[in-house]
Amino acid sequence: MPVPKRVPHVAREDERPKIVTGVPFWGIHVVAIAGVIATGWSWSGFALAIGFYYLRMFGITAGYHRYFAHRSFKTGRVFQFILAFLGTISTQKGVLWWASHHRQHHRYSDGPKDIHSPIQRGLWWSHLGWIICNRYERMDKNEVKDLVKFPELVWIQKYERVIVVLFATSFGVWGGFWAFLWGYCVSTVMLWHGTFTINSLSHVWGQRRYDTTDDSRNNFLLALITMGEGWHNNHHYYQRSAAQGFYWWELDMSYMILKGLSYVGVTSGVNRPPRHVRDKTIKNTPPSEAPVPQAAELPRAA
Ligand SMILES: [Zn+2]
Ligand SMILES: [Zn+2]
Repeated sequence: MPVPKRVPHVAREDERPKIVTGVPFWGIHVVAIAGVIATGWSWSGFALAIGFYYLRMFGITAGYHRYFAHRSFKTGRVFQFILAFLGTISTQKGVLWWASHHRQHHRYSDGPKDIHSPIQRGLWWSHLGWIICNRYERMDKNEVKDLVKFPELVWIQKYERVIVVLFATSFGVWGGFWAFLWGYCVSTVMLWHGTFTINSLSHVWGQRRYDTTDDSRNNFLLALITMGEGWHNNHHYYQRSAAQGFYWWELDMSYMILKGLSYVGVTSGVNRPPRHVRDKTIKNTPPSEAPVPQAAELPRAA
């Protein structure tokens, strides 16, 4: 299946970097870098940053991506909210916004209408240009009809910035500037760029096992830093799988945790693809072209 060709694009006015988003975004970068230079390296600080990196990466991969955007496993309403909360404190906008835009990415992947295709608009745009402009500030609620029926998700979407500010501030209250610097600023900058690699590098760097209609790739290094999201060609091929590593040697920490939680009843339907789907070689119509599940098919929250 041919990968979509690049279509020339004339940048729109609302695709320029936006001050309101850009100041906090770049400001946290400056505090992180200048703060570490000014106060010196701290191994315990780095451990704190890594801890909150992986905790929140789980919120993005298992929560925002695999659960809310793709409904690839089931859980009860309490853990559903916990996933939304962990995603929210990752400082990557609200759960409904994230899921609605991600569903659009899959609908048009790497075509001219894809909101963050490196094929169409280059690495910088796909990595962060689309995030710090005005164009995608709004979300299409029609994309997330299945999610807006939960009032707590509408609530956490509405107050996501307040929650982020409270979260960031709590580090300072707990451990002063050192904790704020490492636990929030350094950790969040790493988390942003770790997550963004899936929109940028995962569509240009790695192997293609499946002949999908986009240019998605599988990449072990990206899977390591994103808890399994680097198996992106697998994912574009079969979005309904809770696992993105399809074989045991494809390290997928999010799947391992979700699977572990299924043994204690927190999650269910945490599966790899059926063998006949997984073992199909290239030149097959990707099952990922199946529509996103709609409200009637959704798991009932307990
Ligand atoms: Zn996806
Ligand atoms: Zn993709």
